[in-house]
Amino acid sequence: RYQPEEGSKFMIRVSGIKITLDQDEAAIKRELLTKLKIKEKELVEYSIFKCSVDARKKDNVFFVYTIDAVINNEDKILKRFARDKDVSSSPDLNYEYTKPGDIPLKNRPVIIGTGPAGLFAGLILAVMGYRPLLLERGSDVDTRTEAVRTFWKTGKLDTECNVQFGEGGAGTFSDGKLTTLIRDLRCRKVLEEMVAAGAPAEILYAHKPHVGTDVLREVVKNIRQRIISLGGDVCFNTKVTDIKVEQGVVTGVEFNGEAFIDTEVVLLAVGHSARDTFKMLYDKGIRITPKAFSIGVRIEHPQELINQAQYKQFAHHSKLGPAEYKLSYHSPSGRSAYTFCMCPGGLVVAAASEEGGVVTNGMSEHARNANNANSALLVGVTPADYGSEHPLAGVEFQRQWERKAFELAGANYHAPAQLVGDFLLDRPSEKIGHVEPSYRKGITLAELKHCLPPYVVETLREAILDFDKKLKGFAISDAVLTGVETRSSSPVRIERNEQRQSNIIGLYPAGEGAGYAGGIVSAAVDGIRVAEAIIAKYKPLGDGT
Ligand code: FAD
Repeated sequence: RYQPEEGSKFMIRVSGIKITLDQDEAAIKRELLTKLKIKEKELVEYSIFKCSVDARKKDNVFFVYTIDAVINNEDKILKRFARDKDVSSSPDLNYEYTKPGDIPLKNRPVIIGTGPAGLFAGLILAVMGYRPLLLERGSDVDTRTEAVRTFWKTGKLDTECNVQFGEGGAGTFSDGKLTTLIRDLRCRKVLEEMVAAGAPAEILYAHKPHVGTDVLREVVKNIRQRIISLGGDVCFNTKVTDIKVEQGVVTGVEFNGEAFIDTEVVLLAVGHSARDTFKMLYDKGIRITPKAFSIGVRIEHPQELINQAQYKQFAHHSKLGPAEYKLSYHSPSGRSAYTFCMCPGGLVVAAASEEGGVVTNGMSEHARNANNANSALLVGVTPADYGSEHPLAGVEFQRQWERKAFELAGANYHAPAQLVGDFLLDRPSEKIGHVEPSYRKGITLAELKHCLPPYVVETLREAILDFDKKLKGFAISDAVLTGVETRSSSPVRIERNEQRQSNIIGLYPAGEGAGYAGGIVSAAVDGIRVAEAIIAKYKPLGDGT
């Protein structure tokens, strides 16, 4: 097992090392020696910092490596390459724990939610001796997996334990993509902790790291066990139903509508689907504002089509794996569409958390070996589209389209689906073609224009035709659209100040649901940031608290 290192010893970073698909690992070392103009005996050791695939020219696909190397005479080499942007000294990427504050805590800090934000906040607080108490409305990941499978098979939805709720949070049944747009040193800490908890070490250097739902479930469990071993506790089937506030200060939380826990610190990491919790917070006077997000559908193609389009003659090369894509389109109407959360070799999944609504999303196993590639195909919406200025109007907006999709597909948790060719020609589909939809419990052929706003339908039509120019075959008539994808990010922001507290003292909103992250890594990073704010203020707990 990999353990995060104490103090990096790698001193020189060399980027832009190109290796063809057919060269072996030894070529990396040869290229490194050539690039630095050094002899083998001068190289003490090296490790891969980053590896990406350059497939911009389809007839010349290759790997590009960034290497961290320990070399005998580093200073001399650094001076020699002072003007070369590909050679520099390696930055220190070690995570620095925050120095604890001196305000004594009377009670253990409470974390609501065990998604990436809650789990990573819990881990950092536990390491630093704060013995956090994590409360999760859903079940542990094994029980949750059974509940999710039952829903996909029978349509029996558990509204407390599903693809959105339960140990590991919303991303547990996902592709486990660990890419993020944020630039924050804490991202490295998140990946290192995931590797320490059982994720493959390659996520530390892969340009587009992913773990898959099978691996992620084990990682989540191991992080939970680590928190407990450090003095924390994790309680499942424990929904926070009220926050006790006295004169603008948190004094405790109520769970399952019946019992209280005293605490002066509550880290709120409830995710983007905790609609009842958002309402409870709003009713308590916690400052919430509406936020833009995106809605649309999932699109499914044969993975082979994507491989051919992206890698041409290298499509079956054993070193490449299933190809990905990421596309965006700006309509003359002012709307924008984009692909999101693309899952190579994956499945479209039923991700509802409320009775009477259909929600799609995507996931894959680590092997990414299912027949279809799927991706969300989304159009941005803003509070101006929600039809009301109420802070929770975005939630109602999502709900409205989820319910229409539910009714359209027969009110039995089938999802409405339409072939791309028919969607573009504005006519109903009569039968599925050569792309078999993967959504369980099943699809009902229907016209998706009946469960999406007209401007979303129009923008999607334009975008599909535009994407076909960028990725050959994107608009094939048999590709399947399944709706509706409404939970792309949070429809609200729970306001917080520079100390990361809401307008209620002691209440710390974090992660995606509060509007500060989008995706597994950025939610985990935000959880860490908020944990740091708590650590900076309060003293760790004594053993007897
Ligand atoms: P969440 O993960 O949503 O966690 C919130 C937790 O709080 C939940 O477990 C919930 O049960 C709990 N909770 C809510 N209310 C209460 C309450 N009142 N009391 C107690 N507990 C409560 N992101 C990626 O980066 N890569 C991917 O490949 C990817 N794929 C995805 C696939 C699917 C199917 C889904 C649904 C999401 C995917 N995402 C992916 C998004 C990612 O999962 C989220 O961005 C991330 O999980 C947000 O983390 P979070 O901790 O802020 O919230």
